[in-house]
Amino acid sequence: MINRRKFIQQGVLGTVALGFTNEIYAQSAFNSIVKTATKPIVISTWDFGIAANQAAWKILKQNGRALDAVEAGVKVPEADLKNVTVGNGGYPDRDGHVTLDACIMDENGNCGAVLAMEHITHAISVARLVMEKTPHVMLAGEGALQFALENGFQKEDLLTKESEKAWKEWLKKAEYKPIMNIENQHFSPNKLPGNQYNHDTIGMLALDSQGNMSGACTTSGMAFKMHGRVGDSPIIGAGLYVDNEVGAATSTGVGEEVVRTVGSFLVVELMRQGYSPEDACKKAVQRIVKKKPEKAKEIQVGFLAMNKQGQYGAYALQQGFSFAVCNEEQQDLLIKGKSIY
Ligand code: ASP
Repeated sequence: MINRRKFIQQGVLGTVALGFTNEIYAQSAFNSIVKTATKPIVISTWDFGIAANQAAWKILKQNGRALDAVEAGVKVPEADLKNVTVGNGGYPDRDGHVTLDACIMDENGNCGAVLAMEHITHAISVARLVMEKTPHVMLAGEGALQFALENGFQKEDLLTKESEKAWKEWLKKAEYKPIMNIENQHFSPNKLPGNQYNHDTIGMLALDSQGNMSGACTTSGMAFKMHGRVGDSPIIGAGLYVDNEVGAATSTGVGEEVVRTVGSFLVVELMRQGYSPEDACKKAVQRIVKKKPEKAKEIQVGFLAMNKQGQYGAYALQQGFSFAVCNEEQQDLLIKGKSIY
């Protein structure tokens, strides 16, 4: 799979070939709409989105529901012990607790989330149960764990030896300073020096063969965060938003800035106003820059979006953001996100 992986720099050539940017769609809007043969399609954040998309694709290619696809997809990095930013094996908070944040949203506007939940690998599945089995949208901490256990999930220890080692290293200096764009070190966490750490979330958006959209977002959050800290990822409107009439968006990066701008909701609303997915993501990133120009230079935030026609795009503050795309034509496409800096 790795050998076949194509890494495409967004640009004119990629644009024409793949037909995903604004200019091209603006020029050939009718063709693009006719060309919704890309449906079904799934996209997700970062390199680890490739493997996740493939799990989602198994469902989508059999005309399955986008909701089932995104849940199955993000379960892949959740279960990957080498992935130190999502699910089991995620880096802990500064007190040594691995606390997970996740949310899911379907084509009918139903949504569910778990916040700062410990001991359950598949936070996304618990979030889905919150959506489907409770009158609530969010369950947090102990309550989320209690609900999961009552619904048949097993209590697990999510702190791997490697993550524990990284945490103990970090404690020596105990400096909370998120490091950008080292996500390609995901798969060798032992190489991270003690004062460095990582933060990357899987956000996944799917459009199924029925034309319905759903999204999922799951993370262990910022490594060595304060105990109880919750980021953007489980917050509907911040880390994820789906409007089946318009499109869907998700985010990754320093969650505090995404929450402040209600980022994913903003991206969807911009698409409603007619912006392409990429331009909507760019506008949302620019909003962060405008509000906090100095801070924006130091942190990473990336948005990923797809509209109802299956057109997609992304934009980030910094270089280094990538997203994976999977449809009938190609199951393992990885694209470099454009960035402000
Ligand atoms: N957005 C996540 C959080 O703030 C982290 C990330 O995606 O990098 O928890």
